Amino acid sequence: MTEKELKILGIKLKNYGTSTGSDWFTNKDTILSSSPTNGKPIARIERTSHKDYEKVIKEAENAKLIWRDIPAPKRGEVIRQLGEKLRETKPTLGKLVSYEMGKSYQEGLGEVQEMIDICDFAVGISRQLYGNTIHSERPGHRMYDQYHPLGIVGIITAFNFPVAVWAWNSALALVCGNVVVWKPSEKTPLCAIACQHILADILKSNKLPEGISSLITGDAEVGTWLSKDRRIPLISATGSTRMGRQVAITVAERFGKTLLELGGNNAIVVTPNADLKMTIIGAVFGAVGTAGQRCTSTRRLIVHESIYDKVQQSLVEAYKQIKIGDPLDTQYHMGPLIDTDAVQIYVNALTKIKEQGGKILVTGRVLDGEGYESGCYVTPVIAEVENHLDIVQEETFAPILYLIKYSGDVRNAIELQNNVRQGLSSAIMTTNLREAEIFLSQNGSDCGIANVNIGTSGAEIGGAFGGEKETGGGRESGSDAWKVYMRRQTNTINYTSSLPLAQGIKFDL
Ligand code: NAD
Repeated sequence: MTEKELKILGIKLKNYGTSTGSDWFTNKDTILSSSPTNGKPIARIERTSHKDYEKVIKEAENAKLIWRDIPAPKRGEVIRQLGEKLRETKPTLGKLVSYEMGKSYQEGLGEVQEMIDICDFAVGISRQLYGNTIHSERPGHRMYDQYHPLGIVGIITAFNFPVAVWAWNSALALVCGNVVVWKPSEKTPLCAIACQHILADILKSNKLPEGISSLITGDAEVGTWLSKDRRIPLISATGSTRMGRQVAITVAERFGKTLLELGGNNAIVVTPNADLKMTIIGAVFGAVGTAGQRCTSTRRLIVHESIYDKVQQSLVEAYKQIKIGDPLDTQYHMGPLIDTDAVQIYVNALTKIKEQGGKILVTGRVLDGEGYESGCYVTPVIAEVENHLDIVQEETFAPILYLIKYSGDVRNAIELQNNVRQGLSSAIMTTNLREAEIFLSQNGSDCGIANVNIGTSGAEIGGAFGGEKETGGGRESGSDAWKVYMRRQTNTINYTSSLPLAQGIKFDL
């Protein structure tokens, strides 16, 4: 990533050690952004001080009064311009995502494409913020419901989708008439600064206040300022279940709303009727794509005993083909983990698998030597386990795939698939209609996402995204997810000259 490319994204490196685009801030306390691809520092970013946070919220409060008065389709026009600008910057922004986060360049581009897609979706939604009309039981009365903006929406995001999750939330929240304040992961602040610049320029060219979209940088502490803040009616938080639990409690205490997108423990059920070629491709991409650092990564493969050995052998063979290296070099399938802390979690998980009775089929190790200087590259692992093991019940954010055997009916596999605390994504591989329909029925998968003959990862804009149980229950990015960003109001209008009461209650004076 060159300085020139960063400049295209609006990021100005001053002398190394200060820098970035957040000129506005006054704090000299910094966080370091470095690339897991080569371990090299990229820039130091100012951490938002509490004083600056107050300034940001004040700006947002002023901006919300202007923005909410702009008609929704006109707000949609601003988001259309954002989509256009993202089309132009896609190659550079995709590269920054790949360089700062470590996912492959192809996946970096895919992430920016998701931003473009949500902008298109939100533009359409800006003309469809529909309420219902309801027939009143009283004569000469009209009743309807309508949706109003909430005000300020706080967005907390994880490192693994450093730009798309902001766009999923912002595009919808903004067309709904809210202003947004974003606290990105402290591990990927430059991606956030680039996004903020793109939108700030568009707001400026439309003569709108920059406070419509603000950025604050820092760690969990800065995130807690948002969750505690009564001026922020909705907090949309994406990250670990541990973080979501804390945010949920803090926001509930002040009766705020939350949209939680938390960890997954996603499984593919492979029945005797599966197309095995598709199954292997889907499972390998789901398990090693983004080095196993997607919330929808495939963690468990629940395979019928009659085809278990065949699936296992094919997977072991497929894993031998995986090339690991610089994610910006297209010859490699898998890049690094985000940092050396994540590597340590991977190493600890391997120990736990063995301690708890799992059998390692494809061994994991941390890579060193030329090309692996960052210390963040690991090899993908396959382990044969039982579903109830503590380590299998947890989400380990790394390329570790668990193979679990089932016997008998597909219902036994579904029981195993559901028997975890998380409920994000799930899939079944089968060409049998009955098995597929059972999996999708009320007796089937308990996840927010249930797929047939595709893997667990790779959701597209348009469908509501999110999951149940410890995944947090939130839905964003499609269907009627826009409603979360608005408050509903029921209106009853009496156009007669009498005042009949509901339920026929009499009250004569
Ligand atoms: P994380 O929970 O460590 O951090 C996420 C964000 O929350 C960061 O910005 C962090 O600074 C902030 N944060 C942490 N504690 C906080 C607190 N107490 N109050 C306020 N903010 C706080 O997660 P991560 O390691 O960045 O991301 C990986 C996790 O995110 C995985 O569990 C993954 O499954 C999940 N994830 C879920 C989805 C989804 O849509 N369900 C999408 C992406 C990632």
